[in-house]
Order: sequence, then C-alpha cells, then structure tokens
Amino acid sequence: MEKLLGVFETVDEAIDAAVAAQKEFVTKYTLQNRENMICNIRKYFVENATNIAEMMVTETKLGRMDDKIAKLNLTAMGTAGTEVLKTNVYSSHQGLTVEEGAPYGLIGAVTPVTNPVETIIGNGISMIAGGNAVIFNVHPSAKTVSSYAVNLINEAISDAGGPKNLVVMVKEPTFQTMLEIGNSSKIKLLVGTGGPGMVKALLGTGKKVIAAGAGNPPSIVDETANIELAGASLVASASFDNNILCIGEKEIFAVESIADRLIKAMIQSGAYHLNEVEVDKVTELVLEKGEDGTFHTRKEWIGQNAGKILNAIGVSEKDDVRLLIFEAEFNNPFVQLEQMMPVMPIVRCESFDQACDYAISAEHDNKHSASIWSNNTEHVTQFGKVINTTIFVQNGSTMSGIGYGGSGTTTATIATPTGEGITNAMSFTRRRRFAIANGGGYIL
Ligand code: NAD
Repeated sequence: MEKLLGVFETVDEAIDAAVAAQKEFVTKYTLQNRENMICNIRKYFVENATNIAEMMVTETKLGRMDDKIAKLNLTAMGTAGTEVLKTNVYSSHQGLTVEEGAPYGLIGAVTPVTNPVETIIGNGISMIAGGNAVIFNVHPSAKTVSSYAVNLINEAISDAGGPKNLVVMVKEPTFQTMLEIGNSSKIKLLVGTGGPGMVKALLGTGKKVIAAGAGNPPSIVDETANIELAGASLVASASFDNNILCIGEKEIFAVESIADRLIKAMIQSGAYHLNEVEVDKVTELVLEKGEDGTFHTRKEWIGQNAGKILNAIGVSEKDDVRLLIFEAEFNNPFVQLEQMMPVMPIVRCESFDQACDYAISAEHDNKHSASIWSNNTEHVTQFGKVINTTIFVQNGSTMSGIGYGGSGTTTATIATPTGEGITNAMSFTRRRRFAIANGGGYIL
C-alpha cells in the first residue's frame, strides 16, 4: 500500500519529522503562507466530507452519516484561522512594546472516537495557524479514517506550498504511544479531547495540558419559553449524530406547568415517547450496573440509532425515529450519565429553582455546556450565573454555542477542565514580548 503522508510506524520517527517540519515552517513561511495552507485544508475537507463521513460511520459504527457531513463542514469552515492571533502594542515616551502569540513548537494531541476527523481538522487548523506542528495519538477505533485525514491535511498543506509532516500520527496508536508522546521532551504542550480517564492521564505527565473533557449538558425549559420551538430544537439537537457530541443536551428539566406541552411538541417533532415498560427494557438493554452499584453505558449501544434501540426491545417499523424520550426522576441513571445515545430523560420540576438545582447537580461540575429555554431575563441570568459552564445558550440548541445555528467560530476542542474554553489559534500560542526601551520606536 502507498505510504500515507504524515503517518509513521514509531512515535520517535513521527516526532522527528514533525519537529523538522515545524522548524522549516516558522523560519521560511509567512503568516499569509499559513493562511493559504489553511484555506486549502478547508477546501480539501469540504470536498471530501461525504467520503470521510462514510469512512467514520463504517469504522467507528457511531452516529449518522448526514450529521457527520454537517460536522465536518462546520469544523472545516468554522474553525478560526490566523485572524484570531492578536498583537498587543504599548507605546509611550519610554519606548515601544509588542506582545505576540508565538508557537509552542510541536504539540501532542489526543483525539476521541466520537469526533475523530473533526478534531484533526479543528486542532490541525488552529495549531498550524499558531505556527505549530502536531502529533496526534488518535483513538484506536478510528485509526484508519484518521490516517486518511492526516494524509489529506498533509496533501492540502503541501499543495499550498507548505512543508510535509506538520501534522503527523503514529500508525498504531496505543496507550503506550500516548505515554511516549506525553513524556517526550520535544513536546511542550499536550492537548486532550475525550473522557475523564484520558484527561487524568495527560495531567499526570506534569506538562502543560489543554484538556477538553466530558460533559452532561442540561437544558431547562420554563413556563415563559416558546414551547413548540424548544421541543423541535431539542429533538433536532439531542438526536444530532445520535447524541455522541459532548455538547449535545443530555437531560431536560421542564417546569411542571409546561411539561406536558413540551413532551407533546417533542413527539410532534418526531420523538418517540417510551412507556414505562419500554423505559425498563431500554434501560436494561443499553445500561449495565457496575460492581460499585452505579450504572454505565453499554459500549455497543453508544451512538446507535433510536430506531435500532426500539427494534431491539420489540418495537418495530420505527426506523425513522430520531430520539426516544421518557419522563424520569432526577436520580434516573440517564439523567446522571453522559449516555451518548438518542435516549432523552425529561424531569418534571415543581419550580424554576428546583430545575436550576437539578441542572447544576446533573452537570457534575464538568463546566461544559448548558442551555435554557426561557424569555424571563431573571431566570436566564440566575441560571447562567450558577451553572458556570463554558458554553451557555438561551433559546437555542447547545450547538449554537459552537457556531451551528448561532454566531461565532467553532472548535472541536472545548477546553473545559483547564479553562481555555473555545480553543483557537491563540490557545496554542505562548505570549512573547519584544520591548524597545529608552524611548526607541516611539515616534510621536
Ligand atoms: P475516551 O476518553 O474513551 O477516549 C479519548 C482518547 O483518549 C482516545 O484517543 C483514547 O484512546 C484515549 N484514552 C482513553 N482512556 C485513556 C486513559 N485512561 N489514558 C490515556 N488515554 C486514554 O473518549 P471517547 O469515547 O473517544 O470520546 C468521548 C468523550 O470525549 C466524551 O466524554 C465526550 O464528552 C468527550 N469529548 C469532549 C470534547 C470537548 O471538546 N470537551 C469533544 C469531544 C469529545
């Protein structure tokens, strides 16, 4: 088989190639060259979105083809480029000082199975815009499509006149290769996108880490909301790519007075309302109790279609259903878990305050995302203050917080535990200062 650009047998080979490429990149190329390369990356991934989406579905067996195409286009076109690199200038009779974002050099990055190529595109664009090279330890269950993406990104850069191997990966990623990357003295920054085990492992290296961790986004719906719009949007958003997105709503808290209307609106928008017997069957099918007595998702059901889940519990001919909904108590495992499948619990709350308390508790201090459907400014402000999430959305899908149906740039790496938030090129730069002293450079 033809060798794929940027894909190496060993971590050492990949690191050496990327270090050399990054040196050449920062010495021989201008900011405009960087932008031209990024333009080409956007173009190549948009042109190949359908093909890549198909590869992702086939390899990872997660999610929905159309939604993956939308996610690929969003990351390719919506991730910010070099335009976000900001320069601070201070001038006075004492001189002139310039502060800029300099590259870290080579960054080590870990990708999730839920967004394998989106993370390569998003981090790739942002890190290159910041003047860096990156070595990915991709999720092993997406290594084939990730190799394809790393090759494509190298082709795009090279066709725009840039150096090969700014983006590299090890062909057979394992926990061991992740440790090798994490412990390499040639890597100054680690970026991890995934669940809590990975975040803990990266933080354990003692290096600077930008970590994008798990979420369990709650959505509150109060009595002042446009209930029909809320119902329709929640169905579309929580079923998007079968709810494997960290940012997707995972539980709804509806105040008592509008709960029935909301459920009706969700059914009218294509959700299937599970009865009590069906809820028990779905729970038994997709969750399991661990030795510690807590529930976990069964891996084989993550990211599967709602129709497939229904079929498995004996409800057939519902293949077009996108989301399963049911009424749940607050302590229901689907409320507490990041379920990552199109099964949505709705908790009826006796008051707005109770909805807030429940939402905060269910978010588990992930500081990730939350939304509220309300036209009561006091409610929105109150909830926004206490939930304290990186992304907080009013009257829209949580995905509007990353520019999908809302304004603003996107990212595949929402740095929650370490606080960088919506990462972009600036997140992957070190601040450096150049100061001309003794009045130099001050021409006024
Ligand atoms: P995961 O944690 O299982 O895997 C993520 C990556 O970490 C993979 O490359 C995996 O090989 C590696 N990994 C897993 N356990 C590890 C450990 N103990 N030590 C070192 N490396 C380890 O997550 P996933 O199933 O691939 O992705 C889904 C998770 O990622 C969800 O929790 C989701 O919320 C989160 N996520 C967060 C963001 C964000 O921007 N905050 C974006 C996408 C996904």
